[in-house]
Amino acid sequence: MKTNFPVIVVGAGLAGLAAAYTLARSGVEVLVLERGDVPGAKNLMGGVLYRRPTEEVFPGFAQGAPVERRVTRQSFWLMTGDSAITAGYHGGEWMDEPNAFTVLRARFDPWLAARAEKAGVRIINETTVTELIVEGGRVAGVRTSRPRGDLYADVVIIAQGVNRLLLEQAGLAPPLEPREVAVAVKEVIALPRETIESRFNLEPGEGATIEMLGQATRGVVGAGFLYTNLDSVSIGVGVLIHQLVETKLNPNTLLEGIKSHPMVRRLIAGGETKEYTAHMIPEGGYRSVPQVYGDGFLVAGDAAMLCNGIHREGSNLAMISGKLAAETVLEARAEGDFSARTLSRYRARLEESFILKDLKKYENTNEFFDHHPEFFRLYPALLNRAAHEMLTVDGVPKKEKQALVWKMVRRSRAPWRVARDLYLAWRTLG
Ligand SMILES: Cc1cc2nc3c(=O)[nH]c(=O)nc-3n(C[C@H](O)[C@H](O)[C@H](O)COP(=O)(O)OP(=O)(O)OC[C@H]3O[C@@H](n4cnc5c(N)ncnc54)[C@H](O)[C@@H]3O)c2cc1C
Repeated sequence: MKTNFPVIVVGAGLAGLAAAYTLARSGVEVLVLERGDVPGAKNLMGGVLYRRPTEEVFPGFAQGAPVERRVTRQSFWLMTGDSAITAGYHGGEWMDEPNAFTVLRARFDPWLAARAEKAGVRIINETTVTELIVEGGRVAGVRTSRPRGDLYADVVIIAQGVNRLLLEQAGLAPPLEPREVAVAVKEVIALPRETIESRFNLEPGEGATIEMLGQATRGVVGAGFLYTNLDSVSIGVGVLIHQLVETKLNPNTLLEGIKSHPMVRRLIAGGETKEYTAHMIPEGGYRSVPQVYGDGFLVAGDAAMLCNGIHREGSNLAMISGKLAAETVLEARAEGDFSARTLSRYRARLEESFILKDLKKYENTNEFFDHHPEFFRLYPALLNRAAHEMLTVDGVPKKEKQALVWKMVRRSRAPWRVARDLYLAWRTLG
């Protein structure tokens, strides 16, 4: 006897739950299989969750969801070992209509899963999908870790996150390359909420995010982050794996370096580390997106490499891709055809949406930074030095200071090369 479901979703992360919820709201019976004890048990992010895309999939979520703080201040720090040039945005419409919230996935995901269950989604936890069942050249179902655990479906949505072993096993995606993946470590450090608000200059309930570049990663391509939760902060760093291999640095050393930076140290002083976690982030961009559809299957979220590292966006790509996958399944059901021909509309939907448009825009970024490490090493140092020189009031005339800065730049890199670097950066990122 074959157990048959209209739709099986692998993974109760953001992509999987978004897909399942969208289907259940349209009256489709959907089964989600999750290897963790509960949804969220295995999941990790920095934790900036964007309001509008989440609202698009889970209307009204902000009223009941266990979000930490609404982000009203977003900053970027270009760091040396003891200083930083800072920039950012604060206030405006974000005060009334938040752009994002900070979340802790261990709290947020179970809430999202409960909402999906209320809409009719069936979630089975502690069940690992061990392989895809392929029959007659099409994905016909999944094999699970449970006894008699073969389950069949008209269509399987694979939303298993970055470690997409099922796709690799079935020959549907190549093994991940160290150039395509970053490894991130994160600590959650408990602090009284009033301390957080006074140190980050926030009103009650407001939140701040800081992205750190330059010395934060010791010049390796990547970034550090510090986000405020209600009564803790999340601090971490993510760097491309091949760069770690080449430089023989390890992420923990980088995180300890960030924590001891004089500007960071004072923000986390007296805090108690509650959690230490590590996870991969798919950073390969547009060119690393595998085949996201085929006979009987679709791939959503991190499993499809849908992550925009430049803008620190992953949760929104996961949820919207889950929703687009579900909408494609609804069409396929209406036509009674789950072949690659019909399911290919999912790829078209991704291409039309911000998801693949944004990844396409940044498709050369990794390669660019690989060939231009000076953006993570030399330029942050030069800019900090120049700012120090120009802003220090010491009786030296400004013209002389300017000449000094110029000399410093010329000694470090020929002006024509600086101009070329900036032009190429603009072409790659602009
Ligand atoms: C350190 C870090 C910081 C980040 N910060 C941000 C941020 O601030 N903002 C942002 O938008 N994005 C951020 N991201 C990215 C974001 O977390 C991901 O893009 C997003 O979680 C992807 O969702 P997903 O559903 O595709 O995968 P996941 O959330 O990883 O979910 C996959 C699910 O599948 C389950 N699973 C895996 N294999 C199996 C199997 N074989 N059988 C059954 N279940 C399985 C897992 O247990 C998990 O529940 C960050 C990521 C990291 C690692």
